[in-house]
Amino acid sequence: MKVLYPGSFDPLTLGHLDVIERGSQLFDGLVVAVLRNPGKNPCFSVEQRIEQIRGATGHLQRIEVAAFDGLTVEFAERCGAGVILRGLRALSDFEYELQIAHTNKSLAPKLETLFLATATAHSFLSSSVVKEVARFGGPVGHMVPTGVAEDLARLFNQ
Ligand code: ADP
Repeated sequence: MKVLYPGSFDPLTLGHLDVIERGSQLFDGLVVAVLRNPGKNPCFSVEQRIEQIRGATGHLQRIEVAAFDGLTVEFAERCGAGVILRGLRALSDFEYELQIAHTNKSLAPKLETLFLATATAHSFLSSSVVKEVARFGGPVGHMVPTGVAEDLARLFNQ
């Protein structure tokens, strides 16, 4: 079965990458789906984010990377995915993630949502924390793949 891992990935962190690596071991195929959501005022374009994800997942088999907009459940159906994968870092993620999972279940009863607990080492990582550190010139090499660190350095002009 195929799994869909949707998110903003603005930018991809090592926490996301860990979920992708572990998720891809559990399913026949994994689609990383980058949400086109201009409302979120992203730092990186969808095309840049797709490049970053492709660059960091080249060593993995059975990974697709795609952009989507609209309902996640509809995109999952278009991809032939029977499961939506999401990550959980802390209790603070739980309420939001559970609400989305219930909403998606009400829209597409056959589609399941599966949560992977974050790797302990990455539990503090979020795209916004990474951007905040990079914006002020702090080191982010332990938080993101190399290509993303380079993009952040270029973005914030270091
Ligand atoms: P969204 O805007 O949809 O929340 P994100 O890119 O922030 O998109 O996150 C996508 C998914 O990855 C979410 O399920 C989020 O909880 C999960 N995630 C983000 N950071 C980590 C991390 N460090 N470890 C595990 N899961 C994570």
